[in-house]
Amino acid sequence: ERKALTAYVDHKLVLADGRAITIAANLGALSEIDNARAAGAMGVGLFRTELMFMAHPMLPSEEEQYETYAALATAFAPEDVIVRTLDIGGDKPVTGIDFPDEENPFLGWRGIRMCLDRPAIFKPQLRALLRANREGNLKVMLPMVSTLDELRRTRTLIEACEAELEREGKAFRRFALGVMIETPAAVLIAPELAAESAFFSIGTNDLTQYIMAADRLNMSVAGLGNVSNPAVMRAIELTTKAGVEAGIMVGICGEAAADTVLIPRFLKMGISELSMSPASVLAAKKAVAEYAAKG
Ligand code: PEP
Ligand code: MG
Repeated sequence: ERKALTAYVDHKLVLADGRAITIAANLGALSEIDNARAAGAMGVGLFRTELMFMAHPMLPSEEEQYETYAALATAFAPEDVIVRTLDIGGDKPVTGIDFPDEENPFLGWRGIRMCLDRPAIFKPQLRALLRANREGNLKVMLPMVSTLDELRRTRTLIEACEAELEREGKAFRRFALGVMIETPAAVLIAPELAAESAFFSIGTNDLTQYIMAADRLNMSVAGLGNVSNPAVMRAIELTTKAGVEAGIMVGICGEAAADTVLIPRFLKMGISELSMSPASVLAAKKAVAEYAAKG
């Protein structure tokens, strides 16, 4: 079985309709790069920047972040590396950010909500990404988006960062800005978000939790946390349709992306990127190749 899978390391994945499929890796640290490359990952579909923040004794500086993003971009160039902006909340404490006590941290001050309220934390990350994009092909996506305004305010902040870098004489390159679809609100306004984003990446872990109203960490309701639930699949389908109609790339970066039973259904919907832990990459490539062969 192992031998059969390695045949897919360099396999190109193109469907009968000509759609190229990317199988990318989800990473949380630079130490995982070699593993992901060896497994045949076609770039990175989700780099979780919060791990760098959680591991740091204070807040990582713009310079420290630049080094990390530049190393990632370099390692995978010319392939894309999608970096997710800081996605933390009260359940994942970070030294240097004062989180309020919350009854429901999963419904609270997290992800893009916190970042937009704390430009002193958000701007160094955006500046580091703009600068590091000269070393390869970074794309940036925003977690926990639930309004169009959050996307627009982020874009305004990015433009302010660009103007600052310009004034300071620091070189940078613009990146494509996408949105994670992981709240029911984002699904319901997907056409509006698609009109103003470069791509969608569906976070099926959180999307399932919020669609099913079932805490992803609470084992008593784990039975509801299933992506193949019709309500969740319909949300994924609506999102994909809105993205495809707007002509933008739609990917999945939650655990479900590696589910070889669901992969044919996702491809049928119009998904063009699946991002997962490096250990799942080869099996997913095989599933896509088999789907493509069936036409
Ligand atoms: C998700 O929610 O599906 C996702 C990919 O992000 P995380 O698991 O880090 O919340
Ligand atoms: Mg998430």
